[in-house]
Amino acid sequence: MTTDQSSALLADRFGRRIDYLRLSVTDRCDLRCSYCMPKGFCGFEEPARWLSFDEIERLIAVFGKLGVHRVRITGGEPLLRRDLPQLVARLRRLRGIEEVSLSTNATQLDRHANDLKAAGLTRINVSLDSLQRERIERITGRDCYDRIISGLMAGKRAGLAPIKINMVVMRGVNDDEIDDMAAFCMDHGFILRLIEAMPIGDTGRSAQYLDLQPVRERLQQRFGLVEALIPGGGPARYLCSSDGRFSLGFITPLSQHFCETCNRVRLGVDGSLYMCLGQDEKLDFRPMLRSGAAEDQIEAAIRTAIELKPQRHEFRELPGKIIRVMSSTGG
Ligand code: SAM
Ligand code: SF4
Repeated sequence: MTTDQSSALLADRFGRRIDYLRLSVTDRCDLRCSYCMPKGFCGFEEPARWLSFDEIERLIAVFGKLGVHRVRITGGEPLLRRDLPQLVARLRRLRGIEEVSLSTNATQLDRHANDLKAAGLTRINVSLDSLQRERIERITGRDCYDRIISGLMAGKRAGLAPIKINMVVMRGVNDDEIDDMAAFCMDHGFILRLIEAMPIGDTGRSAQYLDLQPVRERLQQRFGLVEALIPGGGPARYLCSSDGRFSLGFITPLSQHFCETCNRVRLGVDGSLYMCLGQDEKLDFRPMLRSGAAEDQIEAAIRTAIELKPQRHEFRELPGKIIRVMSSTGG
């Protein structure tokens, strides 16, 4: 890479390269996970304020030029956004964008898995907090266990890979199921990621937080796991079986954060670019996109936004700070 090319790449005030974008295509969801979206929540964005696929494509083309090469589509539940495979195909065609992935609750995945794969989607993350039907109903507020499992298996059959299972571990809710979940993931070739509940919105704050460090030590010994580096690992730290066939990730923003390696920003459905999940700094790109800004103006605004990226979240010091819920930031 030449000096000119590398100075064009995005880096923040702390020298962190920004090469990953999480793109929320909707803030709506068919589930109401207890730690995420409040029951009866109705503070959704008006559809008129959602970025269109054309607007998303224009903006991400500029990110691609600035060295962002991975995009993860999220939400809310992204599969609620109509014609999502078309967006995947459009993003995959952009220069610089090497990978488009998806985070989903999988309730609709059986209908879309093949189209998503054909459109160029690679890896998927599926939220699954329990293997017990009643528990899933209690956590998500819906009787959706069968649909999630059927979506997950459709994803596997379609060849979406790797598949990571995201489990938010909560004390007294599902912490007795970690070993069952590990066995399930080993059987199916999924990567399990255990996540600490974050104090995002009142729902996140009222989740039964569990420190995952002791869990990590126990599982490392029980399964004879060793430290591993997984491509696209982000803030997760991984352990791996010695034959490499099973990986276990830990996302521990409270007990051990990894803000110093943060490489990402988040684009909300309304065009707000959030600099950190645990802070409020953001820049609104919608007015600019709707007033026909030129590419160099968009590029300048992206650089201004990246300057705002804070050093770290303050989930421990200021747990009451973030009032927006996870689904509206693009978790
Ligand atoms: N609906 C999709 C899903 O559930 O995968 C994508 C959006 S969801 C907001 C993305 C991830 O955020 C999920 O894995 C979910 O478990 C996680 N999440 C939501 N609220 C959280 C919280 N308060 N603490 C930790 N993780 C949370
Ligand atoms: Fe919906 Fe995902 Fe939030 Fe659950 S975690 S309520 S599936 S957006």
